[in-house]
This record gives sequence, C-alpha cells and structure tokens, in this order.
Amino acid sequence: MDRDSLHELSELAVSLGAFKASVIPVSDVETDVYFRELCRKNVCGNYGNNWMCPPDAGDIDELIRQLNSYEYMLVYQSVGEIEDSYDFEGMMTAAAAHRDLMERVRGAVDLRDDIPRLLYLGAGGCSVCKACAKKTGEPCRHPERATASLETYGVNVSRLAAAAGMNYINGQNTVTYFAAVVFDV
Ligand code: SF4
Repeated sequence: MDRDSLHELSELAVSLGAFKASVIPVSDVETDVYFRELCRKNVCGNYGNNWMCPPDAGDIDELIRQLNSYEYMLVYQSVGEIEDSYDFEGMMTAAAAHRDLMERVRGAVDLRDDIPRLLYLGAGGCSVCKACAKKTGEPCRHPERATASLETYGVNVSRLAAAAGMNYINGQNTVTYFAAVVFDV
C-alpha cells in the first residue's frame, strides 16, 4: 500500500459503520505492562478462560515487542446508545454490534492484496465462539480468526483515543468500543 493511501483504510472502516477511524504510526501508540496487572484481577472473568486473553495470549513484553514491529495502526471505534449506566442489555447489544463491525472490517481488509502483514485487535476477550474452547481444555477452534484485545497487547486505549483524535467516552448514555488493525505497507 502506498503511504499516501493510508486514509483509504480509515474511510473503509467508517463506510462499514465505524463512528470514527484513523490511521496512526505505531510509534504513537502508548503501551504499558501495567495492563497485565489489571487483567490478573480478572474483573471480566476471561483471565485463564480465553485462549486470546492472558496468561495464554503470551508474555506482555513479547506482545508489546510484536506490536511495535508493525508500522501503522488503523484505530476505529463504535458508539452504542444505552438507557443508563445500569443498562447491561444495552451494553451487550452495543458489544455485539462492535463485534459485527470488526468482522466487516476484517472481511474487507482481508480482501486487500497490498498489505503484506497485519494483526487484528479488538475489545475484550475473543468472542468468535459462544464459549471459548479454553474453558473445556480444547484447542482453539478458529486460530485464523481468534482476536486478542488491545489491552492484552498492553495498549493504553484512552491514550490511543487521544493519539487518533477520538474521544474515549462519547457522552452520557453511550458506550464506546475500540478495535484496531496493525499493519505494514
Ligand atoms: S476462536 Fe473460539 S476457541 Fe479460539 S480463542 Fe476465540 S473464542 Fe476461544
């Protein structure tokens, strides 16, 4: 891909339903090993229960090194409306819409033959399967589609939003999710 054409990817993500999208150099992406400590607290319940989450996803220093080996990151976000901060169902609906957006972005980016190397990152644990095979001790069922979160790779998502010119939070009664594609040109 021509470096002058990077904006094509952000336009693609917006055309597929992203609220905002931007391509930034990976050198502008802030990472912190501290996020692994947050994962260990297991507030989400995925720690040790999802192949793409810690500790199975790999050592955080190694994942940060991998991330930094790429040139650019397409950052995109989706914004869902909820009734209030207790609207769990609304949050789940917004999360499902974000997963659908990630699938559409992946489908469109995979069709391109001008990106030599890329890695997809999302929000939360991999949700390709209804229940991750890790829970029953089986191998990953779809390694080619399995997606780790930005935080698993140590990305500080609130700083990422700022670096990409986006809001981390988009107003009262909304929920914002992020995803990314890191790639070389
Ligand atoms: S593809 Fe399925 S089995 Fe593999 S990490 Fe994702 S949810 Fe787990």
